[in-house]
Amino acid sequence: MNIHEYQAKELLSKNGINVPAGKVAFSSDQAIRIANDLQSEKFVVKAQIHAGGRGKGGGVKIASTVEDVGRLTSDMIGMKLITHQTGPEGKLVGKVLIEEASQIEKEFYLGMVIDRSEEKIVVMASPEGGVEIEEVAKNSPDKIIKEYVDISVGLLPFQCRKIAYFLGLKGKTANKAVNLILKLYEVFIKSDCSLVEINPMILTKSDYLIPLDAKLNIDDNALYRHKDLSEYHDPDEEDSNELEASKWGISYVKLDGNIGCLVNGAGLAMSTMDIIKYHGGEPANFLDVGGGATPQQVTQAFKMILSDKNVKAVFVNIFGGIMKCDTVATGIISAAKEVGIEVPLVVRLEGTNVEIGREMLSKSGLNIITGSDMKECAAKVVESAQNS
Ligand code: ADP
Ligand code: MG
Repeated sequence: MNIHEYQAKELLSKNGINVPAGKVAFSSDQAIRIANDLQSEKFVVKAQIHAGGRGKGGGVKIASTVEDVGRLTSDMIGMKLITHQTGPEGKLVGKVLIEEASQIEKEFYLGMVIDRSEEKIVVMASPEGGVEIEEVAKNSPDKIIKEYVDISVGLLPFQCRKIAYFLGLKGKTANKAVNLILKLYEVFIKSDCSLVEINPMILTKSDYLIPLDAKLNIDDNALYRHKDLSEYHDPDEEDSNELEASKWGISYVKLDGNIGCLVNGAGLAMSTMDIIKYHGGEPANFLDVGGGATPQQVTQAFKMILSDKNVKAVFVNIFGGIMKCDTVATGIISAAKEVGIEVPLVVRLEGTNVEIGREMLSKSGLNIITGSDMKECAAKVVESAQNS
């Protein structure tokens, strides 16, 4: 679960980390009240969306007066903010963070993430923080330090000192960095994060070291033990189909391709995406209706796939084990009746009650493409998508 910057900063503050004073606002009146209370010389208005790169996209603006705060807020709320992380469709801004402006001496990058191949947490830092960090990673990776943490031992102070010196910090300021990094690691562990990214962490002109931006991702599988953090969930930030799918007990993840996939079982769903790519196609989604799906769930899954305008062909790939092939056929036929299937449909059915399922489909009058096995069907769906 991703959370907003204002929520991440609240969490950091609860854990004893100093963050810039600020509050979230949903309207310009509220933003003006917050700015009045802050009594700062300058303010920053920051769009709250689950994507980075806001600064470059016009989602972070400095305001010199309280009136400016109001004006910038009403400009920002309701706008579609496009950044390199939102995709070309952008994200609708519904709220902004009103924050005191900091006097920046230097910007650093600090990130913590789980490195699955190393089976460790890796702490990364760079003296070249700020809005250009992607360029730094690409063009001068030597400017990024990585410290791997054995989680049975935890992050050790000497590792933090190494990072602080790499960032060019000395004396008391280096100590401040060590304390901040250790505290952030504590939050990472305590809140079951899979990512904590502070970009930039800044050194202010008066020698404070503070997180100026904060991106946190909390492991969904651990949310059951963080009831307080679940409140940070923002349904506005989720793909409406993904949200709908979870209500139906279907695992659905939208992807960028044009071949809709309806599969039972996560393993088969993964190999279906692989085999589509192998044949030169791109899946439009990952969709697992589960081992024991009902016809209603299959119908719903179909509706979600077909509501994606990018879908140019659909591949149903079912291995009937617990799930029976006639259940799938019932779902396909009822979805076709309800919403109409206007794109080519390739179906590969195998397993329990396969003969009944195939017969139902052939009698349904639907225009269905079949094949002798998964490979042939994958080739056919890729070809159909290219031609449709
Ligand atoms: P994003 O990473 O989405 O672009 P940031 O929060 O990192 O958003 O803001 C982008 C840039 O805006 C920062 O690198 C910093 O230079 C400036 N900035 C952000 N917040 C403040 C603030 N409170 N005071 C002064 N400058 C800020
Ligand atoms: Mg940032």
